[in-house]
Amino acid sequence: NLLAVNERRHETILYMPLALSIRDLRETIVERLEAVYDNTDHYASFQHVYGTKTTEEHRPTYIQLQAKSESIPKYILVTEKIRDYISCENCRKRRCVYSNKSLTDDEQNDYQQALESYSYSCGAPIFPDDHYLKEVIFVRLQINCDSPIEILYYSSRKAGNYPICYHCGNSDNLITPPQSLKERFKQIYPLCEICQESGRNFYTKGAVKTNNKSTKHSKK
Ligand SMILES: [Zn+2]
Ligand SMILES: [Zn+2]
Repeated sequence: NLLAVNERRHETILYMPLALSIRDLRETIVERLEAVYDNTDHYASFQHVYGTKTTEEHRPTYIQLQAKSESIPKYILVTEKIRDYISCENCRKRRCVYSNKSLTDDEQNDYQQALESYSYSCGAPIFPDDHYLKEVIFVRLQINCDSPIEILYYSSRKAGNYPICYHCGNSDNLITPPQSLKERFKQIYPLCEICQESGRNFYTKGAVKTNNKSTKHSKK
């Protein structure tokens, strides 16, 4: 074991500072980096990449920027821009497919072809990185198989839309919401028997304000 660089001058051995310390330094850096980053399986070991040409691609701040820029432009995330529904090959949930404009025939064909060529799963893009439609047709990327059905799905009038359970995406055995719930909420999303049995409830939005006159009067 070599002494730390700052202690070597106290010894009788003469070290060749440049030749030794660069290699040493490298080892020390490798050791420490690996100690720090060992738990992240994403990054290649420093030992492995040392001396190879690196890119910005996997720098954490860059990844964050990418993740943000990959999300769909806000103006596209609206019901009217839903062009299709796509099913995840893992969880089978239907996810909405958006595009700013209606697809041209060519785009439609290429889209269909892509669907046949590539499998889709929640959180992944539909197209490979070099596909031109990746700038035209979008799915949400900030989801995974645990995510419920998109709210916008339920207001979409795009052909092929049918009611599915908000939690699991199933279309079978949907429960009729009780009248009491209908009176309390403007939006009630479908719930299936299986999800209810496993303890899930109707997902609701827009609580109806009860027209309580006494509270109005007390507000003077
Ligand atoms: Zn999924
Ligand atoms: Zn369900």
